[in-house]
Amino acid sequence: MTTVQQGPSIFKVIKVSIMAEFVFTPPSQASVAVEGGSQRFPIRRVFCVGRNYAAHAREMGKDPDREPPFFFSKPADAVIPADGAIPYPSLTSNLHHEVELVVAISGHGADVSPKDALELVWGYGVGVDLTRRDIQDVAKKLSRPWDWAKGFDSSAPCSPLRPVSKVGHPSEGRIWLDVNGTVRQEGNLDEQIWSVADVISYVSQAVALQPGDLIYTGTPAGVGVLNPGDVVHGGVEGIGQFTFTIGQQADGLRAN
Ligand code: MN
Repeated sequence: MTTVQQGPSIFKVIKVSIMAEFVFTPPSQASVAVEGGSQRFPIRRVFCVGRNYAAHAREMGKDPDREPPFFFSKPADAVIPADGAIPYPSLTSNLHHEVELVVAISGHGADVSPKDALELVWGYGVGVDLTRRDIQDVAKKLSRPWDWAKGFDSSAPCSPLRPVSKVGHPSEGRIWLDVNGTVRQEGNLDEQIWSVADVISYVSQAVALQPGDLIYTGTPAGVGVLNPGDVVHGGVEGIGQFTFTIGQQADGLRAN
């Protein structure tokens, strides 16, 4: 079927919605598991909050404040199960963990007010915003983008999602991460500088949120180094838990 849309000027955009011929088979749809079933949540985009817990802002050398939050993105296919062995990435010798509450969006919304924002949420999960901290430090120093520090392959492990119908909208609950049995990160969702509703509202001022968007909502204090062989366990009370190991760096992708 072919549909014709009126363009903004004299141009008409011919949009072939079915039977498109691609130059190669399109990549499979990025997705994340849903707890307790065979269904999966398709992923469109991944947005992440920069700093959303006061104690983490302080450990990164910043004063926590109520300045508007800032965001960065990861590719949809950076999301992988927070399970099994996760490869140690290239170009770093300072891989860091950041455990985060993940919000899964199933509604459409542009310029959504905080009071309406939660209506866009399908469910929640627990993710880890893996970060090449050494690359991020250089980027900050040189006022360069964070992409190479944040948006690498397998950089967004995520637990199976749970729907709002089962878990509601959590505004408090322990969020933690252990490495090899030692607690590294420990916080509570009620310490978030910007609530989930606030975060959704802010993102929707910059982009029109669409079904399939995920938002990683920031990490509590205690971020630290991960090395090959480390066992990483964490979770958010009432939402989920995960355990994965850090694998070896692939040949040809070693740091230095
Ligand atoms: Mn983060």
